[in-house]
Amino acid sequence: MTTDHGGDVRLTGISKTYDNGFTAVRPLDLTVPQGSFFALLGASGCGKTTTLRMIAGLEEPTTGTVHLGDQDVTALPPYKRPVNTVFQSYALFPHLDIFENVAFGLRRRGIKSVKKQVEEMLDLVQLGEHIRKKPHALSGGQQQRVAVARALINHPKVLLLDEPLGALDLKLRRQMQLELKRIQTEVGITFIHVTHDQEEAMTMADTVAVMNQGRVEQLGAPTDLYENPGSTFVANFLGTSNFIEAEITGRSGEDLTLRAGDGKLVLPAARCSAATATGGKVLVGVRPEKISLTHADDAGSVPDGRNRIIGRIADSSFIGVSTQYVVDSPLCDAFEVYAQNIERDTRLVAGAEVVLHWNPAHTFGLDAAQS
Ligand code: ATP
Repeated sequence: MTTDHGGDVRLTGISKTYDNGFTAVRPLDLTVPQGSFFALLGASGCGKTTTLRMIAGLEEPTTGTVHLGDQDVTALPPYKRPVNTVFQSYALFPHLDIFENVAFGLRRRGIKSVKKQVEEMLDLVQLGEHIRKKPHALSGGQQQRVAVARALINHPKVLLLDEPLGALDLKLRRQMQLELKRIQTEVGITFIHVTHDQEEAMTMADTVAVMNQGRVEQLGAPTDLYENPGSTFVANFLGTSNFIEAEITGRSGEDLTLRAGDGKLVLPAARCSAATATGGKVLVGVRPEKISLTHADDAGSVPDGRNRIIGRIADSSFIGVSTQYVVDSPLCDAFEVYAQNIERDTRLVAGAEVVLHWNPAHTFGLDAAQS
């Protein structure tokens, strides 16, 4: 593998308005660090494929530039960019065997002795024993690995992956997620992966850009995005959240104190992306799995220092590893709680009054006006 990995991918003011006047990507600035596994994540139609295609050179930006390291590649046609793309549809040549499919890029460049390189590449994707099979004799996951090998054979500096696992069933998709991650670590080049699947993005990527309506709504490491979403869109796109409207009443050390209905809540100031002045309105979020549930008769057993609100169980469902409760609270309509490893409390049935409580460190605060 080449050691020159080309530098960061830098998009500056890049946008795309199609001929019909539709703006798929609004001017955005984005830096993808060299050697990272980067995911563009968002719902169908948010502009992620268009962004990827502008990096590949398959779509001309309406405004802005694409840099690879110091090189401005905006005006270069796709084949002159040190970039290659893997598509969901594999796009393998059905009449060529696996070896020839992978060798194709080398042969096209007039390289005669391709054996060593192709074999190395097929070993990398762990298909060495299938070298003489035709694509139709391989599983979907294996075909996708051939597509990856074929895209890597010319040593691109950036590999673009457009929903590459979309056609695979769930089990295979999970295997391939780990496989692609391993391959990326091994080759060390930048991978930019487009997906609408939050679990896939979180499993594979070092950095995720969540896109919404042609904009990057938030960028960060998967755990940061999950634990500190900056908007209700991101909070809801990456998992489930409960929200409570609250007002800031003051400050206690590193924490904000809040009033919500008759109750008080605590929110670490560092986890609040809204303005923190007293009197300000904040949307308080907490993930279901962070919440514990205690029957109201045992409220005295809830440790001090936890955020707590009162509610009533509306529904419960046993889902194997845990029980999922929906709790109505005057502060929030359907508060979702996943209770795990609690002793089976037969009193926790629909209608029961309960205390929901959680560690304030697991609370995040959003701007109530913008969210
Ligand atoms: P998906 O996962 O469905 O591909 P996406 O987030 O990748 O979604 P894009 O493919 O980038 O979204 O498309 C963004 C928007 O631009 C969509 O509304 C799409 O219909 C529109 N669009 C894409 N290509 C064109 C085109 N050639 N002309 C007009 N509109 C287009």
